[in-house]
Amino acid sequence: MAIQRTFSIIKPDATKRNLTGAIAAKFEAAGLRIVASKRIQMTLAQAETFYGVHSERPFFGELCEFMISEPIVVQVLEGEDAIAKNREVMGATNPADADAGTIRKEFALSIGENSVHGSDAPETAAEEIAFFFSGLELVG
Ligand code: ATP
Ligand code: MG
Repeated sequence: MAIQRTFSIIKPDATKRNLTGAIAAKFEAAGLRIVASKRIQMTLAQAETFYGVHSERPFFGELCEFMISEPIVVQVLEGEDAIAKNREVMGATNPADADAGTIRKEFALSIGENSVHGSDAPETAAEEIAFFFSGLELVG
């Protein structure tokens, strides 16, 4: 597998509880390098665009409201097989199903307030990175 980049969000439940550093440490321990990082607060329109794929799901409104409820930390992670590796470090969507040692097992509050987002494929990773970061913010 080649070196990849993936996109990550440390979600409001985690920034609120001062878990940004603990979560970043999990990425770094797994060999993922944080090549870009910033703290922002999304507008409702941005959250609805970002999670547009879920617009028909019953939890869509709740998800978007949650994602704008507090600042988030958006990051670009780089490493060998980064997309799959990040999903592994994150753990299952529902913390009740997540493996021991994963971010969601250790920190998530519920299936909705689950501490992190990570891209699920190369195409979504590229789209999501471009949605939040300009070329100038991405160090080669
Ligand atoms: P993410 O896209 O945030 O990395 P994921 O890929 O593991 O998470 P998705 O199925 O893409 O999971 O769902 C996106 C997000 O929507 C979840 O991370 C969670 O915050 C929320 N979500 C998913 N299922 C539910 C649900 N049943 N009830 C409430 N919120 C949910
Ligand atoms: Mg997803």
